[in-house]
Amino acid sequence: MYNKKINKLLIGTNNSGKLREIKDLLPKRTKIFSTKYFKLKSPRENGKTFLQNSLIKAKFFSKKTNMICLADDSGLEIDLLKKKPGIFSSRWGGKNQNFNKAILRVFRELYKKDKKWKAKKIKARFVCALTIYWPNGKKIKSLGKVEGFISNEKKGKNGFGYDPIFMPKKSKITFGQMKPIKKYKIDHRYNAYKKIKKFF
Ligand code: IMP
Repeated sequence: MYNKKINKLLIGTNNSGKLREIKDLLPKRTKIFSTKYFKLKSPRENGKTFLQNSLIKAKFFSKKTNMICLADDSGLEIDLLKKKPGIFSSRWGGKNQNFNKAILRVFRELYKKDKKWKAKKIKARFVCALTIYWPNGKKIKSLGKVEGFISNEKKGKNGFGYDPIFMPKKSKITFGQMKPIKKYKIDHRYNAYKKIKKFF
């Protein structure tokens, strides 16, 4: 069955930013369905890792729809914060997914750890776990990362989530300032997708 290319796929996310990015990665001929189309709420993510949570989502949405599902679980790890927010990245935005609030929390927590953090290079990375789940229970998992630093202020209006405060290594601008087409070619989601590209 794996020899067959997937040409009809459910993307298991209710996050519009991710949906847009995943759509842009997939070949144009893939027929894409969203969780909104089926009016599906997301399951509780009670895994301990990105990989576990992406499996929870892919399995849940596949079982609900009897479709092959690709789900993503991703987030930002900041070394000085012991890899927080990590799998709680979405939850730091609160119920309304307010990322101004989440970013202020990042700045607050960094300040608590080191009052001079703004003058230092704060190492961080985005991590993305992707799982493809087939209705017969088969699954494929993949993990991708992009290393970088936390900017000492919010910069740029592109992207979503923590993009305005993440500067990938060797770059002087944040993902929020970067053209989407450039971000998509280096980010964690792309790095995870590359490993499972052959299924599409
Ligand atoms: P979840 O995987 O749905 O639990 O949420 C992941 C959270 O991580 C998102 O709500 C974003 O805040 C953050 N995140 C994941 N990928 C990105 C990205 O590419 N840019 C900015 N924030 C991201």
